Amino acid sequence: MATRTKAREVKFTHLDKTFFPRSGFTKGEMIKYYVDVSAYILPHLKNRPITLIRFPDGIEGESFYEKNAPRFAPSWLKTYAVPRRNEEGEINYILIDDAASLAWCANIAGLEIHPFLHRVPYLDRPTHVAFDFDPGEGADLLTCAQVAFHVKEILDELGLEGFPKVSGSKGLQLYVPLNSNVTYAMTSAFAKAVAELLEQRHPDLVVSDMAKIRRKKKVLIDWSQNNRSKTTVAVYSMRGKRDEPFVSMPVTWEELKKALRSKSAKPLSFTPDAALKRLKKVGDLFAPVLTLKQTLPRAFAAKSAPVETLKKYEAKRDFTKTKEPKPKLGRTKKSATGGRFVIQKHDATRLHYDFRLEMEGTLKSWAVPKGVSTEPGVKRAAFEVEDHPVDYLKFEGTIPQGQYGGGTVMVWDLGTFDLLGGTHSGGDLKLLLHGKKLTGEWHVFRIRSEDDKPVWLIVKSGQAAKPIGARQENRSVLTQRTMARIAKDNDAQWTGAH
Ligand code: MN
Repeated sequence: MATRTKAREVKFTHLDKTFFPRSGFTKGEMIKYYVDVSAYILPHLKNRPITLIRFPDGIEGESFYEKNAPRFAPSWLKTYAVPRRNEEGEINYILIDDAASLAWCANIAGLEIHPFLHRVPYLDRPTHVAFDFDPGEGADLLTCAQVAFHVKEILDELGLEGFPKVSGSKGLQLYVPLNSNVTYAMTSAFAKAVAELLEQRHPDLVVSDMAKIRRKKKVLIDWSQNNRSKTTVAVYSMRGKRDEPFVSMPVTWEELKKALRSKSAKPLSFTPDAALKRLKKVGDLFAPVLTLKQTLPRAFAAKSAPVETLKKYEAKRDFTKTKEPKPKLGRTKKSATGGRFVIQKHDATRLHYDFRLEMEGTLKSWAVPKGVSTEPGVKRAAFEVEDHPVDYLKFEGTIPQGQYGGGTVMVWDLGTFDLLGGTHSGGDLKLLLHGKKLTGEWHVFRIRSEDDKPVWLIVKSGQAAKPIGARQENRSVLTQRTMARIAKDNDAQWTGAH
């Protein structure tokens, strides 16, 4: 057996190896399932980085998570490099965009396929919300179905449609398609709020907190799956969790209702054969997950959790001593195609410039030792620092000595920017600045991540910008004061409301 698409050949090995001893299901049958299901599963995997769970010796042998494309992967296998979060280097995730890639993954015993909820290059933009129902001791798939109906009640009230699938293991997942401009901060805040509300309403049935291990006969609504570092088992993926091979399969609400009425979860288990037969009959019940555009309630956009991203900012400062703005969310802009920017000249331990862009309700920030150049091609290193609150846009004054960043801060330039392309999470931003001093295009891109301190470069692109004269260089665009004057005034000004 071999699979060939566009001169991509996959040679299959050890086809007779038994993968599920109890039913005698072989590796060859597993590969055949993936080849046969490819037309249905591929649209759901397209452009999503995946993690494989590999079972080289079948389900009774050892299994392991494979995030990185193995070194022996063929050159045609598509991958996408993502910087590691807390260490140096990057993870080269596999993208399964065609049948050959799928077959190749199956052949290396990648029995389970777990994609992210986002597509590259938008690593911060989930396409849907995922509720993962995880039954504790004494609870089962039917208990999960009960909880899913409680979530459905809330979704109905909000005018949102959700699509359930059995996990193929013991649980159930419910996907709420969005296919709109949202971030994980928003989807996780939403999923968490729903989970906590249901825990309040049904304390005997639902827990919302991973840490509560005592969830006998209860179901954990695992909202934390809505995170850029988490993957969830793919629809139509096989599972290696039970004695027999089962598939993660979409089910209808009607089928869940029937199962609850008859108190039997049996019709909710699908072997690979049953899954393929059902697909031929009913088609891809999960197709709307790819296309249906829905929006989350406004409240979640507003309380979306940049709070989390401002924790570092908060931790570094003593707000009884410094007059810098307190960590507070900015208004989250509807459009992600631009915002305001500020460059602050900061005479601290070393003189440097702070470059900040309004994004996702906070200011993405960099320290630029030599400042932004107006000459095309001149590269300036920019060290990514913690997100700042939006109020920091107009912070000018002094930070007391001994405090973090102690020294003088001038609003050196202020204005708006258009995001011409790229994303912050993708480490690449093409900007058109409309400042009082700087106007024109700049390219800001990440070159390495070290100890969670990513290094970027800022380069003028397109034509040279108007150079900054000496007088202009030492003037605040906010108050026209010089650095010496700001230091002497020893005040702090910023407007809390805008
Ligand atoms: Mn600074």
